[in-house]
Amino acid sequence: MERISLKDFQFDSAFGEQYSREFIGRRGAIKIRETPNEVHIAITDGKDDKLRHDLENYHNHKKIVFFGISKAELATFIGETTAIAPVVTGAAQEKDRFIALDAITEGAPVVNIINAICIEAIRLESSDIHIEAHADSVHIRYRIDGVLRTIKKIDKSVSLTISNRIKIMANLNPLEQRLPQDGRMSVTVENSTIDLRVSIIPVANGESIVLRIFNTSAKLLSLDELGFYPQDLNYIKSTVQQPFGLILLTGPTGSGKTTTLHALIASLPVSELKIITIEDPVEQLIRGVNQVQINDEINLSFDGMLRRVLRQDPNVIMVGEIRDTATAELAVRSALTGHLILSTLHTNDSISVITRLENMGLEPYLIAAVLRCSVAQRLVRKICPSCRKKVSATKKVKSLLEKHGVSGNTVYESSGCSDCEHTGYKGRTVISEVFMVDKNIEELIAERRPVKEIVKYSLNAGMSSITKNALQKVADGITSLREVEREVLF
Ligand SMILES: [Zn+2]
Repeated sequence: MERISLKDFQFDSAFGEQYSREFIGRRGAIKIRETPNEVHIAITDGKDDKLRHDLENYHNHKKIVFFGISKAELATFIGETTAIAPVVTGAAQEKDRFIALDAITEGAPVVNIINAICIEAIRLESSDIHIEAHADSVHIRYRIDGVLRTIKKIDKSVSLTISNRIKIMANLNPLEQRLPQDGRMSVTVENSTIDLRVSIIPVANGESIVLRIFNTSAKLLSLDELGFYPQDLNYIKSTVQQPFGLILLTGPTGSGKTTTLHALIASLPVSELKIITIEDPVEQLIRGVNQVQINDEINLSFDGMLRRVLRQDPNVIMVGEIRDTATAELAVRSALTGHLILSTLHTNDSISVITRLENMGLEPYLIAAVLRCSVAQRLVRKICPSCRKKVSATKKVKSLLEKHGVSGNTVYESSGCSDCEHTGYKGRTVISEVFMVDKNIEELIAERRPVKEIVKYSLNAGMSSITKNALQKVADGITSLREVEREVLF
């Protein structure tokens, strides 16, 4: 049976009457084409002989051709084409822990609409869904590859219904409209589970609702797929092979630190090592790894959990974030006593981790003894290879490249094409600064030498600064100058 996508079809009344919505939802069949002699029908379950038989009886004088279609897509279609009614009663009574997005609910259009919004966001690999009440409409935006995109605007009259439904899904109080609320929910689409973190704050025209998407079953990226240049990649790979020490990732929220940490862990011989991660939340599942979720409600903080985890005889521990002195001390002590510790810190560049750890009260000689490397990273969008064009660099750009030791007379620009949904970009890549700790650096740290000196030594030893790394990717045609300006230079 040939598989099709509903997006390729026009659904108007031209080919005759469509089946009832109830039938489409319940039986998983939709008419996609009808001529005087033939009917084309897309069905979600090719093995449903009863359905085929019923349809053949119904269209008894015509030839029927069946096509395959995914349940999720049909649910999206139903949701997107449902007429919106401002008042819905009886919607959202689920008591289940998991909400199946691809189940079509009868008599509750808002449920189908929200399901459709979520399914589409997941399909486009969005990180967040923004549902914002404005003066006369509700804007639905997705953040894809770090950039917000307006997907649709819906009539303001349903804004309350949508917000009520989401609050019920996330176990929040639907009557509360004046105070911010946070919650979470787990949904399923086509057998995979997705966690959504919900944040609602009141704004002038209603509410701003943000759903962060954690697709725990999304494909785990390998270290080689993240976009590190070979020199950085090789160094990172060699440090993670060591039996103990501290490896730190830095960068702002949304810079892909967790993805890199997960890739580092997945590169280890998982079956030979006891690996435990402490995360808030567990964003993605790694086969063979024990992943613990932090729970503030029952008072399990990073340091509290780390103390417990150390009793489990682990080889490798990933601590989602070092936020306080207690966690920092415990992480360093664990690294000293034969564990490989991976974590993140909030600093702008890689070498600042030294100062940050010192400010948390750690002695420089301890930092020198455990720190193996720190990686500062950002994410930039990759320029679309199908529509990128080489242009000669302006004098200003050339001198910018030169200033940072990057040679190149050309850069790339993209205008957008069907391959990149007319954005000019496709996928993202890492911009990195890898601070490699060798014997000399250990001494410099232990002797409390100024950071400036350590930076100078590292650059001489071949470290590529985050700016240089970014500009190199511009010269290599991997990203655009605009992207780099947005994420790195300013
Ligand atoms: Zn393109």
